[in-house]
Amino acid sequence: MLTVITGGMFAEKSTELQRRGRRLERAGKKVGYFKPDFDTRYSENELVTHDGEKVPAINVPTFVPEILMSDDFKEFDVFLIDEIQFFGSNVVPVIVHLLEEGKTVIVAGLDLDAGAKTFVVTAILMSMAEEVVKLHAVCSSCGSDAWVSYKEPNGKRIQLGTDEYTPLCRKCFYQKLSGGNENDY
Ligand SMILES: [Zn+2]
Repeated sequence: MLTVITGGMFAEKSTELQRRGRRLERAGKKVGYFKPDFDTRYSENELVTHDGEKVPAINVPTFVPEILMSDDFKEFDVFLIDEIQFFGSNVVPVIVHLLEEGKTVIVAGLDLDAGAKTFVVTAILMSMAEEVVKLHAVCSSCGSDAWVSYKEPNGKRIQLGTDEYTPLCRKCFYQKLSGGNENDY
């Protein structure tokens, strides 16, 4: 079974991913936490949520997600993959393979970038999933459910760190855009 947990930044996607992981561990499943790395080798690391909770995680190189299919991770029943939007669409056949092997796969990641453009890998996985959970932060302008994680345009699509991002609802996002130039993204 494939579950996609998606939404903007500050929507507590990682927290939800970990909550589900803890539940499955209590149910006796062997659970592996994975997150993308821009290095070419995998390594042990930690997954940290915005509220500071930590769990051991394995860094997976975004260019070779096939590592997830290796014998090293064969014993896992459940694959939790955070920040799925950083992977290319080459992670899709890897996830299909894991599902065919009978594994449970839960991914978490952004659906939209700061300019409200789709992260294609998240969209593909959402269409394939049995379950899609869409979480929302709170709009920093009006308090409605946030829709996008806005940042002042600087030409970079992906920026690590969250300091420059602001959760906004659709209405407040369009208001912000009408004061700026959409083509800056
Ligand atoms: Zn708003």
